[in-house]
Amino acid sequence: MEYNQWTTAIYLGPDTILNHPDYVTRLRDEIGLNTVVLSFTGEMPDEVLSLSPFKGRVPTDEELGELVLRHFDGRPIDPLEYERARELCGPGAPLAGDDATLRQAVAQLKSEGLKVWTCGGAWTIRRLMFCPSREDVADWMEAACVHWASDYDVDALDITHFRYPMGSFPLGLWGCTCASCESAAQSLGYDMPGMVADLKQARESLRQLDGRRLGEVARLGLGFFDIVHALGMRSGVLDWFRFRCDLVHRNLTRFRSAVHAAAPGKAFGTDTYPASMALMAGHDYLRWDQMSDYASPLVSHISAFICNTFIEWARFLQQEVTDLTEEDALRIVYRFTGYDGMGLPDTIDAYQADEAATLGYRIPTADLVLRDIYKAKLLLPDGVPCYPIIHGEGWGRDNIDRIVDETRAMGCNGVVWQGTAELMDYKLE
Ligand SMILES: [Zn+2]
Repeated sequence: MEYNQWTTAIYLGPDTILNHPDYVTRLRDEIGLNTVVLSFTGEMPDEVLSLSPFKGRVPTDEELGELVLRHFDGRPIDPLEYERARELCGPGAPLAGDDATLRQAVAQLKSEGLKVWTCGGAWTIRRLMFCPSREDVADWMEAACVHWASDYDVDALDITHFRYPMGSFPLGLWGCTCASCESAAQSLGYDMPGMVADLKQARESLRQLDGRRLGEVARLGLGFFDIVHALGMRSGVLDWFRFRCDLVHRNLTRFRSAVHAAAPGKAFGTDTYPASMALMAGHDYLRWDQMSDYASPLVSHISAFICNTFIEWARFLQQEVTDLTEEDALRIVYRFTGYDGMGLPDTIDAYQADEAATLGYRIPTADLVLRDIYKAKLLLPDGVPCYPIIHGEGWGRDNIDRIVDETRAMGCNGVVWQGTAELMDYKLE
């Protein structure tokens, strides 16, 4: 891949490309589009399918229960997502793939002079996650990545969902603690029972706090040591987040080497959880160069990733700490996650969380998105190309222009668009 030119990419599926053949041509000519991140909708060959942990059939609830992340109180993760898992032939790949359409879309993009990155799925489906330490899941993911990279005329892999579930789903933060993860923890130098005990102890300390006094301190200024002190935080809490990063790191370095060996010259990349919350999802930016050929900070999901996390955590704090007001709970969450001081809403209602499409107009969107990109640039090793994923609609053109200008100024290497309504006048059905 050439890293010296500005990458202007967009996420698209084969159907959009084939049904609107002039859409990408116009994007190329009007906004400088040079890359399409194309969803993988093709078929998996038999030799790869034979490695699927689904074993060639649609899994039952019981079988999925064995494969998915387990919370430390023993519960499997949200069974509501099992229906989506049953639409796959294995983690991250569709059950009813259509290779002809996918190949036709790749050929069309190539004929327009565009680069094509394949976007396959991985461990998570919204709130569900396939356990990242199971060997069968890892063998399958490796074979899937190699197939995506080597059997299509694409320039790079851009895998999504190589992460733990989003921070707005608290259950996902406290897994996986299955037997396979317990032995993975041991092999990586961690003590699973010790970490779980320290997490439970921190929660118990949180519950002992006086919400009125905590609120007073939050208004005066809460620091890192205040939080460590107030929670009587033991080292297993930090170990927990490091363990999850190590596990993602171990998997991704393995998948990347396999892709490089099978398809020399093709990049292996994955989207990157917003820096402020990245440790919650197991993404360690400091080691990103060891597991991915580029970083793509996924800063576009301001509702699902960011604001819903504020809301869920504020509710959790109010549930745990007696007499803590909603305003103070939000203030603590903003401070703790590093989004304070930009004028985010004082109340949960002000987010109007059920109106996600217009959220960009109710919060300081450019400040919020840019803060995560600045943090990404601080943390990423030198030389790792950085392509933030941003919205081309629903944020307001001024916000979008400011984000792109500052992204260029801070030395990023391009952007990946989601939606283009504010960039170009084109009606997609
Ligand atoms: Zn596990």
